[in-house]
Amino acid sequence: MFQLTLRRRGISDQAVLRTMEEVPRELFVDEADREDAYRDSALPIACGQTISQPFVVAYMTEQLQVQKRHRVLEIGAGSGYQAAVLSRLAGHVLTVERYRRLADAARARLEKLGYHNVEVMLGDGLNLPANIGPFDRIIVTAAMEQIPENLIERLEVGGVLIAPVGPHQGVQTLIRLTRGEAGVERKELVDVRFVPALPGVAREL
Ligand code: SAH
Repeated sequence: MFQLTLRRRGISDQAVLRTMEEVPRELFVDEADREDAYRDSALPIACGQTISQPFVVAYMTEQLQVQKRHRVLEIGAGSGYQAAVLSRLAGHVLTVERYRRLADAARARLEKLGYHNVEVMLGDGLNLPANIGPFDRIIVTAAMEQIPENLIERLEVGGVLIAPVGPHQGVQTLIRLTRGEAGVERKELVDVRFVPALPGVAREL
């Protein structure tokens, strides 16, 4: 049923569909929400954040065109679910989260479930240390008013970045940037709704 819903909504990449089937989303949501884990909707997680709806996770993953040799950066680890999906398709995933509580929980969960090629880092994805990167793929899972130059600079030539861009409250557009030899190509994909990307490591847990 889960795969069928994703297919019906237009996901066609077999590796992505298989991975969506394999990663146990019920173990990334609150215990109280387990029954709803395979419905196509976003669900609340700790710290007032959300785990994205399965279609959006599948769609962003498909658009990212991840290969086994790729190093991937995610901004916004949240539950760790998107990182788990990416880790099955990529060589290595670094995912950054500004809430310590979420970062610690995601790290423990991913470790326990055996996603050993994912690293969870507490930090501000809008202001990463200079020595982080470069990456073949970058995925941002929080809404940005614009894509910071210092993220684009961390893309390898031939690299792809996907981010929801638009106002923090309301609808954003998923943007895909492809870094070529000569410059950056920009494509608008679909409308989405994400929680905002906020600056700095969160002070609260
Ligand atoms: N990808 C997640 C869902 C992301 S929700 C999943 O699969 O569950 C967006 C997340 O981005 C939230 O956890 C939020 O705390 C985080 N976030 C927002 N701004 C950030 C920033 N500047 N750096 C790192 N993480 C950020």
